[in-house]
Amino acid sequence: MAERLPPKERTKIPRQAMPERDALERAHNFCEVNSGFDLALAEKEAQRCLACADPKCVHGCPVGVKVREVVDLVIEGEYLKAAAKLREDNVLPAVTGRVCPQETQCEGACILGKRFAPLAIGHIERFVADYERQTGEAGLPTPAPPTGKKVAIVGSGPAGLSCAGDLILKGHHVTVFEALHEIGGVLLYGIPEFRLPKDIVQTEVANLGRMGVEFQTNVVIGKTITVDELLNEMGYDAVFVATGAGLPKFMNIPGEHLGGVYSANEFLTRVNLMKAYDADHYDSPVYSCANRNVAIIGGGNTAMDGVRSALRLGAKNAYIIYRRSEAEMPARVEEVHHAKDEGVQFMTLHNPVEFIGNDEGFLTGMRLQKMELGAPDDSGRRRPVPMPGSEFLLPIDVAVIAIGTGANPLVQSTTPDMQTNKWGYIVADEATLRTTKRGVFAGGDIVSGSATVILAMGAGRTAARSIHEFLNTGVW
Ligand SMILES: Cc1cc2nc3c(=O)[nH]c(=O)nc-3n(C[C@H](O)[C@H](O)[C@H](O)COP(=O)(O)OP(=O)(O)OC[C@H]3O[C@@H](n4cnc5c(N)ncnc54)[C@H](O)[C@@H]3O)c2cc1C
Repeated sequence: MAERLPPKERTKIPRQAMPERDALERAHNFCEVNSGFDLALAEKEAQRCLACADPKCVHGCPVGVKVREVVDLVIEGEYLKAAAKLREDNVLPAVTGRVCPQETQCEGACILGKRFAPLAIGHIERFVADYERQTGEAGLPTPAPPTGKKVAIVGSGPAGLSCAGDLILKGHHVTVFEALHEIGGVLLYGIPEFRLPKDIVQTEVANLGRMGVEFQTNVVIGKTITVDELLNEMGYDAVFVATGAGLPKFMNIPGEHLGGVYSANEFLTRVNLMKAYDADHYDSPVYSCANRNVAIIGGGNTAMDGVRSALRLGAKNAYIIYRRSEAEMPARVEEVHHAKDEGVQFMTLHNPVEFIGNDEGFLTGMRLQKMELGAPDDSGRRRPVPMPGSEFLLPIDVAVIAIGTGANPLVQSTTPDMQTNKWGYIVADEATLRTTKRGVFAGGDIVSGSATVILAMGAGRTAARSIHEFLNTGVW
């Protein structure tokens, strides 16, 4: 069992790099890019932790993972105990270790980062969760005795799954209703295999199943069953709406109807969930990217996932078209680096104004306008301003629009008394996630708008606490 190094020794160790597959090799298949820390790397990195008396990283984590205690256990070689400690606050550690924007959360708050590189908390988290999964020794907590209360969860993304995980432990009967044919939300249909292997999500879902959570797929709440029917006819005592923000936004420019123009949602769903990249085994069609010019419009994680998928589908040129500069891009820094290493071409300060097609109605090009940055707008980022007379034509065969998503209106429009805001998101009390309808709670992207996996999980946990209290007291 190792011990912590003296404080002065800790800062002499450089941050350990995440091992990753060669950029040019990985750009042609969907295997995972990062290969993860081994025991030696994990312990060496853990030794860099300053063991702060008041660890800022914990405050920086939206679900308050006890980072320092996890790191202590890694140094002691107690990896399964470290995994159990992680799970006290985070039901999907192998997922968040891979996809959380740590640079703005736990690692952004790390004191070590003031003078040196911050502790690689995400990489350590991933190591611990993978160790637990690979040894097959996940010690699942035992649920409390049945309470006889029933909770329906609408949507199986990170918000729904984390709420289910907490409520099942309290002894309630939990059913997750999912519109799609598989469980996992964006973790499954949005984030590609090369960043988040699907068997990881499926293992976590199976663990919830082993703990007693019931899953019903292909059930569209608002169509197959309404929220009122869940409460009044099917005997559910509470409902948590966690339907995400999956409604694609379009640009409303000429030519958007042409064949070869996709929303990111459709493109990624075909590729990830329907496995269009594996044409030998799956029938899902996706307009061919092979040897073609493919442009993804946007600068967030979705755009990076789209463009890196297009490369892996064989694109000759894969472009990011973004109307601001790289400094304003909302995508995780690691995703931008990976995309560049793999050969993605970044056309920042460019904005499409028209899609051009041929006589058969298929996309052949995009008219782009050059932009420059003006004064900051409401988001605090510098506003992109068109440069007059700068338009030009870029030959393009496939375009994927990744400029954001909105709230899917189905549950809201079929649930009377549940208030929405002017953008169509559900109104929920910040502290309790109660909606304006008795017995109905809501959280994750359907309340906050598109955010992050860990914030959605945090919302799921808050909802679980409030639902448990409501079921115990009946007080609304
Ligand atoms: C391509 C992409 C990449 C991303 N990358 C990252 C990343 O790297 N890091 C990060 O932190 N965040 C990332 N995000 C954001 C993150 O995935 C979301 O913030 C998070 O998934 C939201 O969780 P949620 O549970 O609220 O909703 P979702 O994950 O959207 O899940 C909602 C679920 O509800 C289901 N549903 C919807 N309507 C109904 C209905 N009427 N009846 C039944 N079921 C319904 C949907 O099918 C879906 O399965 C990414 C998002 C996308 C789209």
